[in-house]
Amino acid sequence: MFIDTHCHLDGQEFDADRDDVVQRARAAGCDRIFLPAIDLSSCKTVLDTCQHYPDYCYPMLGLHPEEVHADWSQQLESIWHIVSLQLPTSGLLAIGEVGLDYYWSREFEHEQLEAFEEQVRWAVELQLPLMIHCRKAQNEMVAIIKRYAHDLPGGVFHCFTGNVQEAQQLLEFDRFVLGIGGVLTFKKSHLPETLADVVPLDRIVLETDAPYMAPVPLRGQRNEPAFIRHVITRLAEAYGVTEEEICRQTNANVARVFNVNG
Ligand SMILES: [Zn+2]
Repeated sequence: MFIDTHCHLDGQEFDADRDDVVQRARAAGCDRIFLPAIDLSSCKTVLDTCQHYPDYCYPMLGLHPEEVHADWSQQLESIWHIVSLQLPTSGLLAIGEVGLDYYWSREFEHEQLEAFEEQVRWAVELQLPLMIHCRKAQNEMVAIIKRYAHDLPGGVFHCFTGNVQEAQQLLEFDRFVLGIGGVLTFKKSHLPETLADVVPLDRIVLETDAPYMAPVPLRGQRNEPAFIRHVITRLAEAYGVTEEEICRQTNANVARVFNVNG
């Protein structure tokens, strides 16, 4: 059994066959799926989807850096309202996905910094882990996390694809782990060596980022939780352990970081 810690199962890519995707996930050994929101409207679709699959899908709420536009502060205010409503019924696993992304555009770079830091403060206040998305902005992201590291319960640096130095910089935050998905299986990826060299097995969790990032040999297709099998196989090779050990240890890491049962 394994856990997909990052899956956009609420996305319209799954509207036609979401039940089948969940059924295939269960059949493949996926024990639970964590769903990140990206903006105000997806907070609603994430919560609806999780309600539809109780005890299987769990929500994370936040404003994604690529969704930070001129209206970001109103978006945040509304998302905060939903977050605070969720708290009594709980089930809210994390604040996410949040972070910085300067890959496509730096137009709202300052707004991204402000929105991210505000949501980091939510994580501190609520003592919830962070699901962090970061692209082309690791130093800026790390600078913000550093300021709150003492009070943050932890989190995931999602879709980690960096080098040894970048891994080491992130691992200094000892309550955080790296999210590993399909990129690990790509032919040109150095990730297997990087992980085996400097990332202990107790510092990673599994994720799809579905519908994106499908692993080899399914690269280019719509990704789904059942496909994590291919990531597990590659991880077992990289670390020189069994696939069962990859599942056992990553489940234990999820339990620790998200404060849930293993
Ligand atoms: Zn994502």
